[in-house]
Amino acid sequence: MAESMRGMRLGTQSLESDRGVALSSRQTAEFRCAQGHQFPVVFSSDAELPQTWECAACSSVAIRFENGAEIEVTGLDVEPKRSHFDMVLERRTRDELEELLAEVLAEMRDRRSKGRLTA
Ligand SMILES: [Zn+2]
Repeated sequence: MAESMRGMRLGTQSLESDRGVALSSRQTAEFRCAQGHQFPVVFSSDAELPQTWECAACSSVAIRFENGAEIEVTGLDVEPKRSHFDMVLERRTRDELEELLAEVLAEMRDRRSKGRLTA
């Protein structure tokens, strides 16, 4: 399903850009989503660039990318969707794993210092 949506989006875009050749006043904004998909979106030059755009590949929210970095999103058009939630979950799980690893290592060191590891 994601693939067919992507195909539709790309087809629409190429039609627009063919037509846009006659109109010279356009600007291209780059967007990148939490999954790392980066894509350009063409706007007319007098359009106000949106801070976010729906990713055509995975339908998550992509953030505008400027000068090699994501812009800082402000205001009310930020909708925390699945991708953001995924990132939070991912980070938390990783922290928990690292915490667990630290505990295990501390326990091992503790046991070793008491001479029980080889017993
Ligand atoms: Zn994406």
